[in-house]
Amino acid sequence: MSVREMSGLTDHSHTETSTGIKILALVARRPQPMYETLCPCGARATTTQTAIRSNSVRCLSSEHDVAEARRAQAAERRKVQDSSAQAQQRVQRAALVLEQATRDASLAKLDVEMAGYSIPTSRRPRHEPTQTPMSERDRQSLRLAREEVRKDDEERNRPLREATAKLMDTHRKIQKVQRSTLAGEVVDVEAYADAAMDGVSLTPEDGDVFNRAEFRRYRELHPEIHFDDSLLESLGKYFGANGFELVTCRMLERIIPRFQAAGLLPDRPAPAPAPAPVAAPVWTAQPDSKPTSIKGWNVVDGEPTTYTTRQLERLSAEDYRRALHIHTAAIVQPHRF
Ligand SMILES: [Zn+2]
Repeated sequence: MSVREMSGLTDHSHTETSTGIKILALVARRPQPMYETLCPCGARATTTQTAIRSNSVRCLSSEHDVAEARRAQAAERRKVQDSSAQAQQRVQRAALVLEQATRDASLAKLDVEMAGYSIPTSRRPRHEPTQTPMSERDRQSLRLAREEVRKDDEERNRPLREATAKLMDTHRKIQKVQRSTLAGEVVDVEAYADAAMDGVSLTPEDGDVFNRAEFRRYRELHPEIHFDDSLLESLGKYFGANGFELVTCRMLERIIPRFQAAGLLPDRPAPAPAPAPVAAPVWTAQPDSKPTSIKGWNVVDGEPTTYTTRQLERLSAEDYRRALHIHTAAIVQPHRF
């Protein structure tokens, strides 16, 4: 019998992060393990198991690097104010230029109309239809004014354009990170640890049986989800990358919708005459010994008994839990996406 054990979780208390934050005592086990932390700046806080595992524990104290944060904020404010003042100046300049050009044009028109005007005699001057072509100077003034207004428009819209581009870029990056996360290429800071597995240790063989039973249970509850090799491989890598050896139905219920949202679920193939055989989940550890007997409890009367792995495999997920005294807690942690 192998002595290697598959653990739901590892205790991180009395360690230190790479940023120097001390992880103190475990202060809560559910909905997921929480630890008290102490930053070199003196701030105490709590953090989650997943944050520690992904090395994303940060000091959130307002006193931490407060001077630098204030300086950066002030600089940012100055920059925004400067650019806003400059934009206003440009608008005012453009308005002045336009006003001047309009005045010039009407004066020129008046000049033309007044040309040849003399003090009225008894006879009214004959009304001449006045074609008033714009002078080259007027045209140039108008052109400059329009150009100024156009540039100003562009200048004012620039922050919006830049912000939009940045947002789209961020969105692309988030999507990329999401895909990498689901492919198990990076650790998932939002990884959901089923509280029911808290402190549960099984032998690799029992772990395999357990994982298979939970996977089967998920498939029974969610026949609409189609699994292919690529999805199973991704799931295996995902759970592996996040340190989960025991994978419950509820964990699958948390992660599959994220695959769906990221467009990573395979299409269901066209209905075939015979149903395709269910692929085995690939995250089960390779058994390193032959099937063995497992100590448990009789499902009906609760008396101690032994099971073969084959017998355990045949049990429903619920009976399986009963047989190995695995207790599931009610869902206490809201879905966090
Ligand atoms: Zn700090």
